Amino acid sequence: MEDCIFCRIIKGKMEAEKVYEDDQIIAIRDIAPVAPLHLLIMPKKHMVNTLDLTTDDGPLMGHIFQVAARLARENGVDGSGFRVVCNNNAGAGQSVFHLHFHLLGGRKFHWPPG
Ligand code: 5GP
Ligand code: ZN
Repeated sequence: MEDCIFCRIIKGKMEAEKVYEDDQIIAIRDIAPVAPLHLLIMPKKHMVNTLDLTTDDGPLMGHIFQVAARLARENGVDGSGFRVVCNNNAGAGQSVFHLHFHLLGGRKFHWPPG
């Protein structure tokens, strides 16, 4: 999508610090981190949020969570704890409407979340 900033990053039309990429997904460092480790993992195909998922997307979602776990290990937050969070629609805090998962780690997190 032309007016989607994450599609622009995926197509290389906009700068971002990529930490992982394969044929299906990309992971970048968040431009405004809210934790010492704050990565965004997203599919390359444009989807608004999890409400767009179909049964065909099952393997893609499994892959995203496997890569999230791998990135958590590689960044040394697996033992201390980390979160994989997806905000769906504005009321939940979604501000970029291209499906993405926040990988957050490196500090203590509260529950319930704010
Ligand atoms: P959301 O609020 O939709 O759950 O998450 C969007 C995230 O994207 C925010 O944490 C925000 O800081 C990040 N973000 C917004 N624009 C950019 C950008 O141009 N580059 C990068 N790397 N992150 C961005
Ligand atoms: Zn997009």
